Formats: sequence, structure tokens, C-alpha cells
Amino acid sequence: LSERIKTQDTLPAITVDNCVMSLLVNAGLSLEAEKNDNPYSDGVGLFRTEIPFMMRERFPTEQEQVKLYRTLLQAQPNKPVTMRTLDVGGDKPLPYFPITEENPFLGWRGIRLTLDHPEIFLVQIRAMLRASIGLDNLNIMLPMITSVNEVKEAKRLINQALYEVSEEAAEKGEVIVAPKIGVMLEVPAVIYQLPQLAKHVDFFSVGSNDLTQYLLAVDRNNARVADLYDSYHPAVLAALYSIVQQANELKVPITVCGELAGEPAGTVLLLAMGYRKLSMNNHNLLKVKWVVRNVSLQQSEWLLQRVLKLDNPRDVRQEVNLYLETIG
Ligand code: PEP
Ligand code: MG
Repeated sequence: LSERIKTQDTLPAITVDNCVMSLLVNAGLSLEAEKNDNPYSDGVGLFRTEIPFMMRERFPTEQEQVKLYRTLLQAQPNKPVTMRTLDVGGDKPLPYFPITEENPFLGWRGIRLTLDHPEIFLVQIRAMLRASIGLDNLNIMLPMITSVNEVKEAKRLINQALYEVSEEAAEKGEVIVAPKIGVMLEVPAVIYQLPQLAKHVDFFSVGSNDLTQYLLAVDRNNARVADLYDSYHPAVLAALYSIVQQANELKVPITVCGELAGEPAGTVLLLAMGYRKLSMNNHNLLKVKWVVRNVSLQQSEWLLQRVLKLDNPRDVRQEVNLYLETIG
């Protein structure tokens, strides 16, 4: 099978009934960033900027960030690179910025922290913008969005940074292309605010890892309740389905960038629901492409309708895997 998977690497991700998918990669480790000249992907769907922050002993300077981001943007200048602003807190500590909380996953993480520290946010946004001089492939994505107000506040800061960096650039005769701005959909509250959010953003990206954790009230890193953490839970599937239907109606481009997007069974269900862009770890890309190239959209849609009636995540996976077995 792995040989068959490899031979398809440069072919497009298109189902047997001609439905085209975009497959992007998740990046974070600088090693991975280097590899992001991956010619088989359609771009970087999620760059977890907190990872380089976590590997240091102090906050990286603006100049250090510019260098890092520019490497990524330049690796494939014709493909989009979606950089997520710092998503620390929760399970992602910064050694030089300790946070002590009873309930870190419900606490000070992602956009909540950076809006309380605009100096950290502004340095990062300026670095992204400066890194994008002469290029037009930067997208900026905001993590852990719960309310429209957070988006408005973050955009106000982004516009401030854009103004500053554009002024500097103009003096040197350079132009900055305004990046597209999007939000992660990973806090269940946003499922009920998509029309309002759509007025302020250029794209959505579903973080199925946190969405699963928060919908099911299961800590994604707690071994004791690991059995309960399952992205194939009927409630998670219903949420994912509702989100894509709304996004398509609102005509807001949408990606899934959680682990589910890198799993064969997840791919089939997300495709059937209406998702056309999936972002995943590099090592899953060719496997997922193989799945896309061998399934049919129509059969996946029938399968989805059957699966949505099931009560148990185990039965869901089993049904989808049976279908995957029939295609090889
Ligand atoms: C997610 O929550 O699904 C996601 C992609 O972000 P992270 O795993 O970095 O929280
Ligand atoms: Mg997340």
C-alpha cells in the first residue's frame, strides 16, 4: 500500500467522481518548517507559532520572529501560509512566562492572553507583516476565539501594526499586502455566532482537537478520561456538519486543521459533510491524498447519512473503516 501511496504523490487530490480537495500541512517545529517546501501540499494551513516560542528561554525578538516567518513564507511563495498568533496557556506553557491556574484549559490561553498583553501580540503581528514584504501569501489566524469582540479588538491591533509597518516600508519604496484574517473555530460558543463572525473575517478554520475537548468536557491530555475523548462522538460530528453548512451558506472559506483531518476515516466524513480543505501533519498528507483519490463523494455522502444515526463513536469508525476496506 505504501508504494501505491507514494506513486500518487504529485497527482491532485480529487475523488473518483471529480470532487477536488485542498490538502495543506500543519507546521510548527522549525525542522518541519524547512520541509514545508513539500511540493505535494497546497500550502501551510496552520503554523503553530507557539512552538518556536516554547523552545526558547525568552520571548523571541521581533527580528528573530521576522527571520523565522520569512523562511516559511518564502519556502513556497505561491502557496498560502496561515500563521496562527501565539496560542500559549492550556497545555502549552512558556518556561519564561509561568501561568498558574486551577483550570488552565478554561483559563488564560490563546487570544485571551495576547489581548491582555498587546505588546506581545503587536510584536508578533509586526514580525509577520515585515516577513511578508514582497510576498502576498500571509494569512493570520486567531486561536481560542469565543466572542466577536475579541475579533474586533485583535483586528484593531492588526490594523495598527499594518499601519506602522506600511509606513516604514513605504519609506523604502516597499509595499505590504494586507493579510487575510481568520479565526479558529474550537470553542463551542462560536458554532452559534458564525453569521456575526463572518462579517469580520476572511476565513474559518476548525480546530477539531479543542472543539472535541470543549464539546465533550474531556481534558484532551488526561489519561483517565482518554476513552471519552473522541472526535467521532455524534455530538462532535453534528457540530462539524453544522459548521460547514453554515460556512458554505455564508460563503466563508473553511478548513479543518485538527488531527481528525489527517485520519482516513475523518477525511471521508469531512469530505461528505462539505469540507474541501484539510490541513494535517506532514506525515499524513500522502495517506490522506490516497484516500481522497480512491473514494467517491456520493458514496461518502450516503455513508455519512448512515453514520449520523449511530450513537457510538466506535460504531461510526467501524462503518467508515468498512467502506475504506472496500476501496483497498
Ligand atoms: C485544534 O485545537 O484542533 C488545533 C488545531 O489546535 P491545537 O491542537 O494547536 O490546539
Ligand atoms: Mg486548539
